Formats: sequence, structure tokens, C-alpha cells
Amino acid sequence: MTGSSAASGPGFDGVALPSPQLEPLTLDTPLKKALSPAQATALAKAFGFQTVNDLLSHYPRDYADREVLRPLNQLTPGANITVIADIISAHEKRMSSRPGTIVEVVISDGGGQFTLTFFGKNSQQWRLDQLRPGLRGSFSGKVRMYQGQSQLANPSYKTFESEEEEARDDPALKLKHKPLIPIYAATAAETSWNLQTMIDQVLRRLGTLPDPVPEDLRVVHSLLDHTQAIRWIHSPDDPEQWMAAQETLRFTEAWVLQCALMQRHSLARERRTQPRVPTPGGYLERFDAALPFVLTIDQEICAVEIAADMARSGPMNRLLQGEVGSGKTVVALRAMLAVADSGGQAALLAPTEVLAGQHLRSITTLLGPNLAAELMPTLLTGKLPVAQKRKALLRTVSGQSRIVIGTHALLSDTVTFFDLGLIVIDEQHRFGVDQRETLRLKGAEPPHVLVMTATPIPRTIAMTMFGDLDVSTIRMLPAGRQGIRSVVVPMGENGALFGRVWASLAQELALGRQGFVVCPAISPAEIEDEADFAPPPGDDPRPLFNVEEVLEGMRGVASLAPYRLEALHGRMTSEEKDRIMRSFAAGEIDILVATTVIEVGVDVPNASAMVVLDADRFGVSQLHQLRGRVGRGGVPGLCLLVTNSRAGSPARQRIGDVAATLDGFVLAELDLALRGEGNVLGDMQSGDGSKLRFLRVAVDGDMIAEARQAAYHLVTGDPGIRTNPALRDAIARRLNDSERTWLNKG
Ligand code: ADP
Ligand code: MG
Repeated sequence: MTGSSAASGPGFDGVALPSPQLEPLTLDTPLKKALSPAQATALAKAFGFQTVNDLLSHYPRDYADREVLRPLNQLTPGANITVIADIISAHEKRMSSRPGTIVEVVISDGGGQFTLTFFGKNSQQWRLDQLRPGLRGSFSGKVRMYQGQSQLANPSYKTFESEEEEARDDPALKLKHKPLIPIYAATAAETSWNLQTMIDQVLRRLGTLPDPVPEDLRVVHSLLDHTQAIRWIHSPDDPEQWMAAQETLRFTEAWVLQCALMQRHSLARERRTQPRVPTPGGYLERFDAALPFVLTIDQEICAVEIAADMARSGPMNRLLQGEVGSGKTVVALRAMLAVADSGGQAALLAPTEVLAGQHLRSITTLLGPNLAAELMPTLLTGKLPVAQKRKALLRTVSGQSRIVIGTHALLSDTVTFFDLGLIVIDEQHRFGVDQRETLRLKGAEPPHVLVMTATPIPRTIAMTMFGDLDVSTIRMLPAGRQGIRSVVVPMGENGALFGRVWASLAQELALGRQGFVVCPAISPAEIEDEADFAPPPGDDPRPLFNVEEVLEGMRGVASLAPYRLEALHGRMTSEEKDRIMRSFAAGEIDILVATTVIEVGVDVPNASAMVVLDADRFGVSQLHQLRGRVGRGGVPGLCLLVTNSRAGSPARQRIGDVAATLDGFVLAELDLALRGEGNVLGDMQSGDGSKLRFLRVAVDGDMIAEARQAAYHLVTGDPGIRTNPALRDAIARRLNDSERTWLNKG
């Protein structure tokens, strides 16, 4: 980092004085040199801030207009808040139980009222003099509940009258009293206006900041220069200023992020590694010749992309996405065989022991007996018995096993590979950059990396969270797998339809197949998990369908009488759940009446019918996941989405959208738009996206794409970003330690 720091120039007699002659502050100036030692220490303690940039990146959460009061009714207990309000009344009382006084001040936003309490040992007349009814001011503190009422105890405050008095004494302060007051996320020790005061001090001495966004981009996107944006975000004269500042900082965020990802991508490619290409007549050719089906076009394209990557002398870094059953494993296995042809080994990392075991079985089957014997796919997990584990370790280090499949145990120090050429990671989000890096270091040269994910990732999330990876996508499922018919069943309009639901289910079962009935609740009193969507206000407050009552009701339906029904839900122990799932898989149970616990890890090819009750309670992606439980084998699936929502309502629209397409990518985009990125990113666990301040992946997709395009051009021509030091510094500032380590290893 650069960081020419602003020196505190010596004043008279060698005493440092803040004066206009001081060198202007830069973003890298330590706060110790920009503020008083006490202030700098307090900021470090409260927020961990060290530099001017840390403080200036603490953007206002909101702005309060001195002329407009804000509603006081949504005050959450425990929250640190700052409110602008009028003082209605102020009284002092003696405390009854112990010595001391209590001042109660009632403030109002013009509608609601709110109480402030101040405790004192002695008379607090001075406080009553400050807090006179009729004055307006800002009040800051922690909301707590007292006798059923929320209040602020011992808040800090500043009346606007006192501000004006201060300003009379110090004309420089006059400037500060703009109509808009920035409201900062605060702590008990550092109130919003303490922060405002310190930020103002820093802004007054701030020099011109170099711009991370090049001028041509600023012109094209009508952006402010960086210095202006920073000043206006903290100290706007009017709403137009902070909105313009936000727009600029939003683009800046997209730009810096995309440049960082592009740079990481290009640095990773600059590393040298061994190309892995299949040999004529080798394992891959033999495998392809014996494959009992033809690859889909999507599989072919992905395979070509992967082969091209691995033929290069820089390591592959690729994400392979496609839904469960889309044929990712076959594509990944072909890449492993190319590595085996080149004399190397491939490691396949699964998130759980069970999935690792499943992979071993399906890969062994796909290879067929001859190739399996030669390549010796080996399981290596933490739970293996000692003797077996020793054998697996030996096969790995000797290079005898060309395909090693395991869990994170593969990352441990005791595992050494003979020649690790490729790492395949199943399910991206459980493996962070750090873990990918540990595996990378297991090869003498950096291995190629292929990350597989079965969760369709919306385009903007892929760009922000996985922007350093190339992406291959399998959209279409292999032929014969697309037979799921989805039907919306609107209960509200026709109660008789319910009989039809059970009749359809019975028809499927009569063909020897199995089915699921999914309810949002376990019992009338117990909802399985927080539903994504609450019923719209004013809707019929009918209780939710629940496993207990539905099971009971189904047992009374004549057409279902011949079949074996069983419940499955989250209140059962894992042993119980396992036992029931196993007997369902074995065909000993015909219908599972279940909550969403069946979402994960169920693969029963004979299951063909899925009935979702109260379908409006589930999110788009969740419904799609549930539907994915049927139609897995050769038999076509039927999915009945039963809802009480009214025709034309958003809920009905949502369910209709799910019924209308089997394309998980389309539904993932829709889910993002409906639920917002907070929820969707939360599901995917945190990535770079979680650090975003102004950028909203749900709505700023175009901006992100434009920034990405521009970043691509810049980094292609100037991988070291030498032509733009301000950008290089901005990238360095946003990296965390592990990312920095990662880059330095390049
Ligand atoms: P994924 O890993 O994406 O969940 P798999 O690779 O396990 O999917 O494929 C699911 C099933 O479909 C496997 O039994 C596999 O052998 C089969 N399969 C894969 N590709 C094809 C294809 N092109 N045509 C027919 N069946 C396929
Ligand atoms: Mg699979």
C-alpha cells in the first residue's frame, strides 16, 4: 500500500497544532494522525478503525431532515438508535426505593411518543434547563423495554438550540448545521453525532483523493469524482447530493470488486502447471467408447471448455453448474480420466461422508469393471477404520489410485498425493477459498480445479461471488428425465378439487410408484421452519396443513386405503428419519407425508408423485427443489401444487411460475428478484457478495455486468493494474488477510 501519511507539522514551540498548513489527509493516513489520540483510540476500540479510509467508509445508514420528524413507532429493543424529535414534557421525580432522582422526558415525532429516563444521584435541574418542552433535538441511545414500554435510559442528546449556541462561539461550526443530519450505525460509546463530528474533522483536512474509477468511465456513467462523492455521502446539503454520491459509490464498488476478481483470475492463470491431455487409445477414449449413452449438447460444450482449460499450462479454475441429475459427474469423470492419461491423479471432494460414498459407487459403476480395476478409485474419509485408511493413504501416495474420493479429510496433512493434477469439488459453498488453497498446495504444481454446484446460481451472484472462476453450465437434463408435469390446484375456488388430488395420487401408486405429500407444519401448533412467505394480510386465517392431521385425513380416504403411509418431519430423531427414509427407498412405504426435511439427499427413482400443500408458503427455489425429488428415474413425475391463494395474487403468480418451467436457472433469477439478495446470499453462505455496501445484486445486475466488462478490458491490457494506482490501492484495501495470502502465493 502507498500511504504517504499526513504529518502533524510542528506548531509553535514544537507543539503539534491542527492548522490549515498541515499536509492534507489521505485515505491511508492513520487516524492517530488525523484526530486526537483519545478519539483514535475510541474508534479503534469501538469499530476497529485504523485509517482515515476505515472511518470514511463508515457511511451513514440514513439521513434525518431537521425539518421532518421520523416515526418513533418501530423501535426495536436492544437497538442503538438516533432519533430527531420534539420535547413534549420533562419532569423530575425522587426515586422511592433509593436516594436519587429520575428525570422523565417525553419526546414526540408529531404522532407517536417515547420516554427518555435519566437517573441521577442529586437534583438534575440543569438537565431540565436543557431539555425544555418545545425544543427539537437529536437523541441517541439503546432502546430497552421497561414495564411494557420501550424507552431510552440515559441517552445522549443534543438540542438544536445548543448547537446554535455552539455555532455562535465557533463560526466554523455554522457550516456544519446543514438541513440533513447523517445517521451512523453507532455503539453506546460512540454516538452517531460523535462519529459525525470526527468525520467532519477529517473531511475538513481531507486532500483531493485519487480516483479509482478512470475518467472515461466516470463520464460514461455520469459519476462524481471520488472526493466529491465521499464529501456528499457524509455531508450532503440536499437529498440529491447523497443520492448522486450513492450512485457513484455503488458503481465504484462494482468496479473495484470486478477488477479484484479479474485480477485474481488472471494471476491464477499466470501460474505454471502441467497441461493434462488425453492420450490416443488411453483411459478417456476407452471410457467414451463404452459409455452407454450420448452426452447432451450442454455436457459436450462443458467437456470441451474443461478440456481446453486443462490443455493450457496455467491451472483451470472453473465452476460447473447444473442441477442434480444433469450429468455433471460424468463430465467431471471425463476430466479425471484425461489426468489419468497424463499419468496424474484426481481428487474428488464431497461435503459429507455419505455423498463421498455415493460418488465412489457411481464412479465405479460408470467406469465399468476393467477401468475401475486399473484406476482403482479409492475412498478416503475421516471415519474409515484404521487399517482401511492406511491402505487408502498408501494407494494415494504411491499413485496406484488415480481417483481419490473423500471429504475434508483429504485436506489433512497426513494425505500426500503422488501426482495431483486435478481437484474436483462437489458443492462450492461449503469450501471456502482457504480450503481450495490448502488442496492446491497438495500438488507439486498447482492442480487444475473444477468446482461443481447443483444450485443454479443467478447470473449476478455468479459474477459477484464466483467472479474469479470461469463458468460452465449444463441447463438441459438428459433426455427421458424431463417428464415432470406440474399442476396448480387452487383449493380456495373449489373445495372438491381435494378429492381429485388424492385420486391423482392413487393413480400413480396404482402403477407401483411412490409419492410425497409435503406440508408446511408438523402439527396444528408446530410449523416446521419459518416459511418464506407469510399469508397476505386479510387472507382467510385457515390453519396450515400439517403432517399429523393430513396423515390422519388420508388414512380415511378410500382410494388410498391399500397403501402404506408414514410421517417424516424435523421433530424426529435422525435415527428415526434414517430408518423411515431407508424403508421408503426400499419400497416398504408408499407415501411419505412430510415437511421440507425431504428436501435434502433423497434419491428414490421409483418416486413419481409430489403433492405440496399450502404451496404458497414456500419460495420459488424451494418448490423447485421439492419437485426435483420426483421424476428421477425412468418414470415421469407429477407435481401438484395445492394452494389457497386467490387467483391473480402474487402468491398464485409465484406458484404458476414454478409450474410453468422446469428451468432452475430461470427460477433462481426469479427467486432472487422476489426474496432479495440477503436471503439468497444467506442460503449460499457468505462470499465476496456479503461485503457489499451499496451494490444490490438483485437489482444492479446491469451495472455489475458493465463494470465487469470494463474490468476485463483493463485487466487484460494491464494485469498488474500499474496504470491506475488508486484502483490498485482500493483493491488492496478491500482484501481480507486470507485473500492477500492467496494472491501473494501467486
Ligand atoms: P449430476 O452429477 O449432475 O447429479 P450425474 O452425472 O450423476 O448427474 O448423472 C445422473 C444420471 O444420469 C447418472 O445415472 C448418469 O449416468 C446419467 N446420465 C448422465 N449423462 C447422461 C446422458 N447424456 N444421457 C443419459 N443419461 C445420462
Ligand atoms: Mg451427482
